[in-house]
Amino acid sequence: MKTLKDFSFKGKRALIRVDFNVPLNTTKEVTDATRIEAALPTISYILRQGGSVVLMSHLGRPSGGYEADYSLSHIVSTLSGLLGKAVEFAGDCIGEQSYSVTNNLGEGKVVLLENLRFHNEEKKGDSAFAEKLSKHGDIYINDAFGTAHRAHASTAIIASFFEGNSCFGLLMQKELESVRKVMQNSAKPFTAIIGGAKVSSKISIIQNLMDKLDNLIIGGGMSYTFVKAMGGRVGDSLVEDKYLEEAKAILNIAEDKGVRILIPEDSIIADAFDNNANRKTVDSSEIPDGWMGLDIGANAIEHYTKCIEESKTILWNGPMGVFEMDNFQAGTKKVAYSVVSATERGAYSLVGGGDSVAAINKYDLKEHVSYVSTGGGALLELIEGKELPGVAAIENF
Ligand code: AMP
Repeated sequence: MKTLKDFSFKGKRALIRVDFNVPLNTTKEVTDATRIEAALPTISYILRQGGSVVLMSHLGRPSGGYEADYSLSHIVSTLSGLLGKAVEFAGDCIGEQSYSVTNNLGEGKVVLLENLRFHNEEKKGDSAFAEKLSKHGDIYINDAFGTAHRAHASTAIIASFFEGNSCFGLLMQKELESVRKVMQNSAKPFTAIIGGAKVSSKISIIQNLMDKLDNLIIGGGMSYTFVKAMGGRVGDSLVEDKYLEEAKAILNIAEDKGVRILIPEDSIIADAFDNNANRKTVDSSEIPDGWMGLDIGANAIEHYTKCIEESKTILWNGPMGVFEMDNFQAGTKKVAYSVVSATERGAYSLVGGGDSVAAINKYDLKEHVSYVSTGGGALLELIEGKELPGVAAIENF
């Protein structure tokens, strides 16, 4: 893996693709700076080495031209506060005015370019646009894991203009190492906990994991497609009938490969999708009409937590129930705590992809698992076994 350690940044301009796609409130203040904080180690490393830094990112979904709402100028003060130094802003990401800011950058200087997506060429992966961007730096660094699955000009195409002079930033390096640790060098037993609403969005992940896993724990709304595939009655629970065959195929593959699949034997069911609905615990295969499974039951929790606590490698994607509602969060919360106790006993735990990260944050356990990924789609594609354009570009040039 080509990393910062392979280069000397003294007197060099590092052009870094970061992910500063942060939420802003109505007065355009940053409401969650997690993504900016995640980029700080790379920026600080280069500055400590005597280099200068040019940052480029997208923000939101502008329609292709300048839109004040999506200007990266809104984040300058937050970035500057976190870095503890002044950040200069270039009013565009290409063009003479922007080059005049980034040319002859003095040691220790930091410049932020304007939103890349004010130019349609960014998302199209336009090569001429990528070449124009490349003029801002001597060494190209990709530290935007969140967009590494996109073949955009700044995330992938640009690397060809830095032959021998491109590498991953510290965040990308950590993300890739954590996935490799799980997918390539996993200590056994290896358990994946896959939950969330829909089986359709997780099927490729499950398929790609089947050769590697010892245990597959299924939870959340997707459980009921499996329960129905096995002949159970699921009432009004979330089911994707189109995926019944896929669910059966997974059960068969698991049997062939000796993967233990855990499907919730009991569920907490409700008579409405509402925290205050009537609720009771039943066998997951005997859910009456008019009722839906919204969390795993106490027996499932007992088996799941035992399995997790005996594991040496854990991958967790997706909640066990509707954890946003207090009455249906027990399964997710207990699973979160058992991932923590397995980690304390020496297991490697990677939590990633949307709502399991939200769950870990809800219970304030982020510091107690091995790694929480910052990437949603990018992480899922890596686990599906796909090559990410942003990763391949650095490896190829
Ligand atoms: P995903 O983005 O596919 O990981 O799904 C996460 C969402 O699934 C969360 O918002 C949960 O509330 C929801 N979810 C989890 N379990 C269930 C369930 N049993 N029925 C309906 N939705 C669920």
